[in-house]
Amino acid sequence: MLFKTLIAPLQQWLMSQGKCVGCGRELSAAEHKKHGKNEELVYCQCKRIYMFSKSNKAYRRALIEELPKNA
Ligand SMILES: [Zn+2]
Repeated sequence: MLFKTLIAPLQQWLMSQGKCVGCGRELSAAEHKKHGKNEELVYCQCKRIYMFSKSNKAYRRALIEELPKNA
C-alpha cells in the first residue's frame, strides 16, 4: 500500500526526533513510568503509548503485550 510506505518513514523520523507520531508533541515532556531496568513507558496526551530505552535514548511504539494489564 503506497500510503503506508510513505507514512512509516515519516513516523520513524518523528520518533527519532523524540516526537509523537500522532500529535507531534515532545515525548520528553510526556509522562514517563518505569518499565523494567532499562525502559520507560511514555504516555502521550493523545493516548499513544511509547517505550523509551534509557541505554540508547530512543523512543519506539510500545507493543500491546508491554502495556500494563490494568490499562
Ligand atoms: Zn501524541
